[in-house]
Amino acid sequence: MSEFHDVIIIGSGPAGLTAAIYTARASLSPLVLEGEPSSTSDQPGGQLMLTTEVENFPGFPEGIMGPELMSNFRAQAARFGANIQTVKASRVDLSARPFGVWVGSPDTPEPTHQTNAIIVATGAQALMLGLDRETELVGHGISTCATCDGFFFRDQEIAVVGGGDSALEEAQFLSRFASKVTVVHRRSELRASKIMQDRAFNNPKIEFLWDSHVTSYLGEGSLAGVTVENVHSGESSELPVTGLFIAIGHQPNTSLFADQLEMKDNGYLVTQPGGTATNVPGVFAVGDVQDEVYRQAITAAGSGCAGALEAERWLESLHDAS
Ligand code: NAP
Repeated sequence: MSEFHDVIIIGSGPAGLTAAIYTARASLSPLVLEGEPSSTSDQPGGQLMLTTEVENFPGFPEGIMGPELMSNFRAQAARFGANIQTVKASRVDLSARPFGVWVGSPDTPEPTHQTNAIIVATGAQALMLGLDRETELVGHGISTCATCDGFFFRDQEIAVVGGGDSALEEAQFLSRFASKVTVVHRRSELRASKIMQDRAFNNPKIEFLWDSHVTSYLGEGSLAGVTVENVHSGESSELPVTGLFIAIGHQPNTSLFADQLEMKDNGYLVTQPGGTATNVPGVFAVGDVQDEVYRQAITAAGSGCAGALEAERWLESLHDAS
């Protein structure tokens, strides 16, 4: 027998838990499927669980550790009555209302939960190189967010991996702090737009290491350098950097919604301009799963708030119509 909920929130990063705080305070008793700690890139709390100090989340003048911030978000949602379950949604059926949400086996005929409103907050993952010890060095020299972590590398030599707009934007931003930024790119031609290329080529702090890829990380506990290999000659060398910013793209976590919610070619969910509604009435998307531009904890939280308010209004309109 399925359990009915007014609203189900899938995901528990800043967007999902902000939506939980708002819907809980609106007495909607949200069910939050926060995910399971099954893999490092896909765990309850989202990407901030992989960061160390967060200095740019307003309200914390001394900064706060990423996991502590998410623990605070979670406690605040729980305080107002959000029902937070440490499970993953394995299937959704958005073809008719009430929507079905499965936990555990996706093959049972009956969904585990039913609801008239779903807030999708499944986030996105930064693509990684997949090298040994990468996960343990994230937050200790390896980062995927220059805006978040660049400040910690003042006067140090750092490297950026990638040849797209993100890599050059990160390099440009990082050059404010670092003594030198080396962009390591696997080809001899950049994918980034001409204007970004021109800016990077004209920046005296930015250098390029062409036709190269990072093959290993050096240093115990924190990054002390990387080994890079030339893709043509196979020649290996060491780059003595204390920071490595991986900017090879992001992947939104949207496979659960394939063929049910409208997505862009790159997998990000489509929401109506200036709002969080998806193409399915009653389903709202918030945070990084629909934001390929800003990708900040604070913008995700703001979007979670907007999604909660829209879900509330949607439920009221259903109630008024019945
Ligand atoms: P992207 O354009 O897909 O570029 C990814 C880069 O990473 C490419 O240069 C790619 O190399 C490289 N790469 C991919 N996998 C790799 C691997 N395993 N090892 C080493 N290198 C790897 O991604 P993005 O830069 O994140 O940009 C995503 C979208 O957002 C783009 O449309 C971009 O224009 C846009 N964006 C715009 C701005 C802006 O206008 N200010 C800023 C950021 C992003 P190859 O080139 O060899 O494939």
